[in-house]
Amino acid sequence: MFINVILPLPLKDDFTYQIPEGFGDPLLPGQRVIVPFGKNKWYSGIIRKTGVTPPKYRTKEVLEVLDVDPVISDWQLSFWEWISSYYMCSLGEVMQAALPAALKWQSETVVRADRDAKIEWDQLSDRAFLVMEAFEHQQQLTLKEVSDIIDRKTIRPVIHELLDRGLIVLEAEIREKVRPRWVRFISLHQNLSDEEWNQVFESLRRAPSQSRMLMGFLQLQGPERKEVSEKELLAHTGGTRQHIVGLLDKGILKEREEQFLPDTALRFDEDTPLTAEQSEALKLIEEGRSTETPVLLWGVTGSGKTEVYVQAIRKVLSEGKNALYMLPEIALTAQLILRLKGYLGDGVLVYHSRLSERERMETWKAILNADGPVVVLGARSALMLPFRHLGLIVVDEEHETSYKQHDPAPRYHARDTAIYLARKLGAGVVLGSATPSLESFFNVQNEKYLSARLEKRFSGVAMPKIELIDLVRQHKQRTMHGHFSQPFLDAIRETLGQKEKVILFQNRRGYSPVIECKTCGHVSQCVNCDVSLTYHKAVHLLKCHYCGYTQKPLSTCPACGSNALQMMGMGTEKIEDELQLLIPEASIERMDLDATRKKNAFQELINRFEEGQIDILVGTQMVTKGLDFHDVGLVGIVNADSLLKFPDFRAHERAYQLMEQVAGRSGRREKQGKVLIQTYEPEHRILQQLIDYDYMSMAKEQLQERKHYQYPPYFRLIHILLKHGKKEVVNEAARRLGMALRDALGNRVMGPEYPAIPRVKNQYLKQIYIRLERKASPTKVKAILAELEKATLADAPLSGVRVIYDVDPY
Ligand code: ADP
Ligand code: ZN
Ligand code: ZN
Repeated sequence: MFINVILPLPLKDDFTYQIPEGFGDPLLPGQRVIVPFGKNKWYSGIIRKTGVTPPKYRTKEVLEVLDVDPVISDWQLSFWEWISSYYMCSLGEVMQAALPAALKWQSETVVRADRDAKIEWDQLSDRAFLVMEAFEHQQQLTLKEVSDIIDRKTIRPVIHELLDRGLIVLEAEIREKVRPRWVRFISLHQNLSDEEWNQVFESLRRAPSQSRMLMGFLQLQGPERKEVSEKELLAHTGGTRQHIVGLLDKGILKEREEQFLPDTALRFDEDTPLTAEQSEALKLIEEGRSTETPVLLWGVTGSGKTEVYVQAIRKVLSEGKNALYMLPEIALTAQLILRLKGYLGDGVLVYHSRLSERERMETWKAILNADGPVVVLGARSALMLPFRHLGLIVVDEEHETSYKQHDPAPRYHARDTAIYLARKLGAGVVLGSATPSLESFFNVQNEKYLSARLEKRFSGVAMPKIELIDLVRQHKQRTMHGHFSQPFLDAIRETLGQKEKVILFQNRRGYSPVIECKTCGHVSQCVNCDVSLTYHKAVHLLKCHYCGYTQKPLSTCPACGSNALQMMGMGTEKIEDELQLLIPEASIERMDLDATRKKNAFQELINRFEEGQIDILVGTQMVTKGLDFHDVGLVGIVNADSLLKFPDFRAHERAYQLMEQVAGRSGRREKQGKVLIQTYEPEHRILQQLIDYDYMSMAKEQLQERKHYQYPPYFRLIHILLKHGKKEVVNEAARRLGMALRDALGNRVMGPEYPAIPRVKNQYLKQIYIRLERKASPTKVKAILAELEKATLADAPLSGVRVIYDVDPY
C-alpha cells in the first residue's frame, strides 16, 4: 500500500506515498504518478519501489497514475541509481536530465475569475482592469499569461488587488507540457456492393470535390489496404480536410486518430566492401562485443571510421538489437544525419537538445513502441533513452570534452557512462577518434580496451601539411598587419585566388576580451563576476561571458578619468574586422556562439559556406565539429599560444586534439590541404608533435607528466565547489570542511583555494580537490564526503553554503 517515488527535485532521498483504497490495478516501478509535494504543489514522479514499509512520518496519498505500462524500465532505474551514486547527485536530478520535459508534469498556478463576484469596473486599477477584461473571453489564465497581459514581470500587486476584491481565485493545475501530435487514418465505413456504390456516387453528383476525394481514396486503398492516412490522401487528391469531413458526415468514410510517432523502419543495403584495415577493425569490434571489452578505433579524419561503425551497427540490427551512435551535440549536423539515413534508412532516430520538446518525446515513445530494431543518432542525453535490447554504443569523437556535463547535475561523462551502460546491458562499445583522449589511450596500454587503427585517409590523399609561423620573427621583420603576418595573409590571398575556401580558428569570441586604462591599468570588470568584460563590436556592448551582464563601453576610465583606454587581446569579431579591411573583396563570416544563437543559424552558415557564398569562415571550436567541406584549401590558427597556456592539467592534450581537429578541415577529399599556425613559441613540444602528426609521442609524454604530478588517469579527482553570497561565509565553510577532510583523508585533500574566477553571478566560490589513488575505494570516500559535509556545515550560516561535487571533473 506504500510506494517510493522519485521526484524531479534535488532531494537527497525519495519520498513514500500511500496508495488510496480502491485504486485499481497494482502499481509498478517505472510508472509515473502524480503526487502532492510541499504546499499546494503537484509533481509527476516515477515509482521506484512498491510494497515498501510505511515510514515514521505521515504520508500523503498518490493522486493519479499516468501510465498503463511503465515508461522507465528496471534497467533504467538501476542505471539512474548508478549515475546518482557515482556522480554524487540525487535521483531526482538524474530524472530531470533523463526524462524529456514533455513526459514531466508539473503543477502550475492558474488564476480563475470568481463568476459570482460583482465587478466594479470603475474601481479597478488599470492593470486589474486588463486582467478582468481578459476573463470575459477566457476561463482561466496562467500566471505567465497574466504577466503578458499587463506587460510586466511583477504580477504580485495586481494579483493581490484582485484577491482582495474577491474577484479571482488561485488554483493549481496539473498540465502536460506538450500536447502530442495526432495523425488520422481514413477507411471505409462499411463495404458496399456495386449497386450501393452507384448510389453513393449518384448522391455525390452535387459535390464533385467530395466525389473526387472518394475516388482518390479508393485508388490509394486498392485491394490490399484497409486504411489510408489523411496526409497521404490530401497529397494524392489535392483536396482539403473539408471534403473528407463531408464524406465522414455522410457515413461513407470513417476515421481514427493515433498519436504521431516517427518511423523507425530501417533499410538493409549491401555492405560496402571494406579495406583490410577496416575489416580488421570490424572484426575487433565483434570480438569486443563478445568479450565485453570496449574497443578504441583510432583513425584520422577521413580514414573510414564511419563506414566501420555503420557495418558494426548493421550487424547488431540484424540480430534484432538496438544501436546508439553518439556524437557531441554540435557535431550532429544535418549533413551527418542525412549521411546516416542514407546508409540505414529514414527510420534513423535523432535525439539532441536542439530538437523541440515534442520531437524528443516522440523519439522516446517511438523507441518504447518499436517492433523491430532501432538506431538512434544522439548527443549525450541519448544514453537515457528507453532502449530494449541495446547491442552496441558508438561514441564518436570520444575525446570531445563536451561529453562531460558540467552544469547542472548529474555531472556525468557520457563516454564513461556509455561504457558502464554497455557492460551492464551486455552491449558492445566502440570509442572512435582521430586523437583519442589520454584516458582511453591509457586503457589501451593497460589492455583494458582493444584497439584498432586506421592509419591513412581512405582517399589516399596525404594529411594536410602543417606549418608554423614564428611571430617573434615576423614582428622583428615588421611584417605584421594587426594580428596577421605577411606569410599568413599571402597564403589566404593565394587560396582565395585558387577559388578555394579558408577557415580561420580563434578560440575567443567577441571583439576584445580586455579593455585596459593605459594610465592606471584599470580593467573593465563585470559587476557580478570577477572577470573582465569582453567588448562586442557588432552590438557595441561590453558583455560578461559568465553571467550575461552587459553595459555600454566607457569612454573614460572610471578609476582615473583618463580617456586612454586600450583594447587588448582579440576575439573572432576582431579577426573578422581586421581581415575585412585587409581583404575587402572577400566575403567573410563568423561562426561562434554569438553568430549562431538563432535557431538554424548554425546550419544556415554551414549551407552557405558549402554553396560557396562565403570565402572565409572565422570561428571558434565550432568550426572543428562535424563539418566536411570539399574545397577548403587553407586552415589558419591565428594564435596557438593561448590554447597552450590554458591553466588546466589537460591544456596540452586538448590543444593538440583541437589543433589536429581544426587541421583536419583542410583539403579533405581529393587534394592535400594546408594549415598555418601563428605562434610566439614555434619550438613548443606540442606544436612540434603536431606538425609531425605525432600523437603517440604527445600521448606518451603527457602521460608521464600526469603520472609525475599525480593527475588522472593515474589518480581520480573529485572537485568540491562551495558557493555562497557572502565571502566570509564561504571562506569559513571551506576552512572547516577542508580541515575535517584532511583529518579523514590526509594529503589526498588539496585546498581550499579560490578558483581561477573567485566570484560568478555574485556568488563567492572556494574549491577543494580530492585526489584518490586508483586503489582507493571511491564509494567509501564519497560516503565520507557526504558525512563530513553534514557534520561541518550543519548550522547557520554555514548550512546556507551550496556544496557541489564533481566526480572526474574534466
Ligand atoms: P571518418 O569517419 O574516419 O572521418 P569516413 O567514414 O567519413 O571517415 O570516410 C571518408 C570517406 O571515404 C567517405 O567519403 C567514405 O564514404 C569513404 N570510404 C570510407 N571507407 C570506404 C570503403 N570501404 N569503400 C568506399 N568508400 C569508403
Ligand atoms: Zn585609469
Ligand atoms: Zn558576470
